[in-house]
Amino acid sequence: MPPQEIPALFAELKRNFRAGVTRPLSWRRTQLGRLKALIKENKQVLEQALKADLGKSPFESWVAELGFTINEIDHTLAHLDEWVRPETVSTPLAFQPAHSEIRSEPLGVVLIIGPWNYPVQLVLAPLIGALAAGNCAILKPSEVAGACSTAVAQLVPKYMDPQAVRVVEGAVPETSALLELPFDHIFFTGSTAVGRIVMQAAAKHLTPVTLELGGKSPAIVHSDANLKVTARRLVWGKLYNCGQTCVAPDYVLVHESKKDALVALIRKTVGSFFGADIRNSVDYSRIINERHFDRLVGLLEGQNAAIGGGSDRDSLFIEPTVLVDVDPASEVMQEEIFGPILPILTYRTLDEAIDFVNDRDKPLALYVFTNNRKTREAVLGRTSSGGAAVNQTVLHLAVPDLPFGGVGPSGMGAYHGRTSFEAFSHRKAIMSKPTVVDPDLLYPPYTEFKKGITKRVL
Ligand code: NAD
Repeated sequence: MPPQEIPALFAELKRNFRAGVTRPLSWRRTQLGRLKALIKENKQVLEQALKADLGKSPFESWVAELGFTINEIDHTLAHLDEWVRPETVSTPLAFQPAHSEIRSEPLGVVLIIGPWNYPVQLVLAPLIGALAAGNCAILKPSEVAGACSTAVAQLVPKYMDPQAVRVVEGAVPETSALLELPFDHIFFTGSTAVGRIVMQAAAKHLTPVTLELGGKSPAIVHSDANLKVTARRLVWGKLYNCGQTCVAPDYVLVHESKKDALVALIRKTVGSFFGADIRNSVDYSRIINERHFDRLVGLLEGQNAAIGGGSDRDSLFIEPTVLVDVDPASEVMQEEIFGPILPILTYRTLDEAIDFVNDRDKPLALYVFTNNRKTREAVLGRTSSGGAAVNQTVLHLAVPDLPFGGVGPSGMGAYHGRTSFEAFSHRKAIMSKPTVVDPDLLYPPYTEFKKGITKRVL
């Protein structure tokens, strides 16, 4: 869609929202059902698009994109009646008789901007919350995952109510044109740098934003950790989607006494997951494009690769790579890696590891591997991160009742499950008073008698 046509599309959805198209609960349920059908009936089309963009295996496509989104729809449909129910709260004695309640109302027309790494899930999962809460939505998938963007743009009009859900494909010019408009909410998933651009544009209209950003998520491996299980869960989380996951463990801080054993176990685990010829494993994805490939290979310069280090630009393949003796000041420790490269740094005391994390931006996720309660509580209690997992990586984001989001530079706001419904709703405070009686306690003249009573009941 040419950028100059975007304002008319926005105005159309605004009119439809005002006409009340999206408010009935029955409409919301139907749309969620249609979204589920879109995914189920086009599983192959979507899997092929994910394969084309990222070399994603059908297994990962199902678990992390399609099945994930269907689970989120089912969870929403199962709980929607409870979420929309007005919540009665108590009213102070001095204002009686009265009834006070909170009602969730839809925000209006919302914009959902997606990234390329989970290009289907990360536009459709936020849409679930937007629809459940009764909003109209414009989806802007990432142009970098072109096959998925096309698939979403072709399928959405076939399944979803065009009065309420539309797709705008494109890159910076289209997104900039969208960001000019006074949306009622912007839900952005992507980099911290573009998150800043989105928030600046939103500020012009005082549009609230949810920013799902990234950052360097650390994994702390303490001396008492079960190293065999730790290695498996680290390798799994790091190499899922070839490291192109916002909550992938970015780097490891391991107690110095366990470094060599951990590296040996990671080597063994990589072999057991992908075989001796990783290039031919259908379960190992590829880097999204040449730009990111070159960026990642650049990060390896001057580093000591204990595992891997090889790559092939033609097939956008980078071996699972573990770096040791990493200088914290080196480039690989500055920006989010977002690829299959795992720097391993060591620490002597837990305080040192906690300080290392606290000296840097608050991450999207933090992982701690330990079987000791005190160690676990020290790490969780003295660090700040969007989310955390103990003796696990990544999976916390798939628990529908856990809010998923960042803190500080890793994002603001959260979603998934009920939190998605709340992200796209306004909690309207309503007080209702009957008119059969009208006590004059709060009205002038403010007599000594009224002052005495209000002092006691307010
Ligand atoms: P990105 O910020 O480059 O792009 C995201 C979206 O913004 C795309 O739709 C793109 O078209 C648009 N965009 C890019 N430049 C723009 C500009 N100048 N003006 C307006 N819009 C612009 O992010 P990406 O490379 O697609 O995704 C990778 C990043 O996303 C990583 O940092 C990753 O950690 C983060 N991420 C976060 C989550 C999360 O849930 N927190 C999930 C996935 C990815």
